[in-house]
Amino acid sequence: MTYPKRCPHGHFPMDCELCQQAAEIATLTAEVDGLRKDAERWRLELSFIALADTRLWDDAHDFKAWAQNRARDALSTARGEP
Ligand SMILES: [Zn+2]
Repeated sequence: MTYPKRCPHGHFPMDCELCQQAAEIATLTAEVDGLRKDAERWRLELSFIALADTRLWDDAHDFKAWAQNRARDALSTARGEP
């Protein structure tokens, strides 16, 4: 009969609070990394809109439509809509 290996803390991994906490920290770290990437993506999208050269549009209404479409697309993506 083989026994489960002990973790580096000297416990069985399934009973070790430190191992469980390490796993939770790894999960949360991955989540934070994902949120940071999302934040950077939205920051970039906002800067595209905020810094757009409005002279490229002949009609101010066209610029407004462009900006609103970009913002709507970004919102849809952020909400996970297809
Ligand atoms: Zn452990």
